[in-house]
Amino acid sequence: MTHIETLAARAGSRPDPASGALSPPLQLATTFEHAPDGRLPHGFLYQRYDNPTQRDAEQVLAALDGAARALLFPTGMAAGATALQALPPGSHVLLCDDSYFSFRVLAAQQFPRWGLTHTIVDVTDLDAVRAAMRADTALLWAETPSNPLLKVSDIAALADIAHAGGARLLVDGTFASPVLQQPLALGADIVLHSATKYLGGHGDVMGGVLCFADDGDHADACHRLRLLAGATASPFAAWMILRGVRSLPARMDWHCRNARTVAEFLAAHSKVSAVHYPGLASHPQHAVAAAQMRDFGGMLSFEVAGGREAALAVAARLRLFTNATSLGSTESLVEHRASIEGPDSPTPGGLLRLSVGLEHGGDLVADLAQALAD
Ligand SMILES: *Cc1c(COP(=O)(O)O)cnc(C)c1O
Repeated sequence: MTHIETLAARAGSRPDPASGALSPPLQLATTFEHAPDGRLPHGFLYQRYDNPTQRDAEQVLAALDGAARALLFPTGMAAGATALQALPPGSHVLLCDDSYFSFRVLAAQQFPRWGLTHTIVDVTDLDAVRAAMRADTALLWAETPSNPLLKVSDIAALADIAHAGGARLLVDGTFASPVLQQPLALGADIVLHSATKYLGGHGDVMGGVLCFADDGDHADACHRLRLLAGATASPFAAWMILRGVRSLPARMDWHCRNARTVAEFLAAHSKVSAVHYPGLASHPQHAVAAAQMRDFGGMLSFEVAGGREAALAVAARLRLFTNATSLGSTESLVEHRASIEGPDSPTPGGLLRLSVGLEHGGDLVADLAQALAD
């Protein structure tokens, strides 16, 4: 099998027959010539249905995750919402308790309109997952590592539980990217990535992708829903994602290296009461992470001793880490998640989430040291 570094470095690259250009072409056309009887001699009809740049990106994204099929969407939320809306009406969804916050809001506000029911469960507790499975459970939704507590769940074990109950397992693998974790190879049925994060990698494009282990009913239903409801990624976004993917494995290595440096510094600091990073031996699921991930990623969170006010003061003193949402870009970001998630947030008030970027690790540690000093 070709290694992921090689797949990524050459993403979409094949000398253009007309010009010899190496970088993939950006095709912006909304409509494509067809035969008078509607046959498609070039394979394309209309940009919303399918378009050449989106198809290039989907082929690369499918290959990176070892998927039978990938579908690209304008955002990660659109990808996730499509996977849910494509379930048969009346389906029950088991949603992890630490899913990306907007999915929990979506479940509370929209599932009833879509004829879906749900139960929230801690997917790091396999007995709790087994107990929550129902006859009508169609989808088990896990996010690993999770946001913002970096909980890690056992993908292979969750796949067994889902399949034993006739359900599918979806893994939101945004924090890991396909470089650090291959959920389909571990038995998951669908992988979701917000391509806005590491796949794009430069904080300048939004996208979402669903990667399917098999090109069966559910993939087909998602495709039909996208085509009709119109959640098609723009060709420009698809092109930007292809461009980002080319350096993904190299960037992930550097993100992981810097995050480890930062996590070790924070873990030894007297003003820090907890560090949530799966690469630390103290992390409760470190063994699972070490078994199913190639490295531990660029995301971590930590709790400032003194709680909410102390954490906000540290966030205000940081200079290199910018207070901003999102993650996976070249520059380091900090966010007080409880403030962003609002009054219903279960996130501890003293918690700061870091997206560790590609700066020099020593500069990042120096910035945290001055922000944590009196
Ligand atoms: C950002 C994010 C999403 C949503 O993606 P968008 O591109 O913002 O719609 C979903 N899951 C995780 C883990 C994320 O970090």
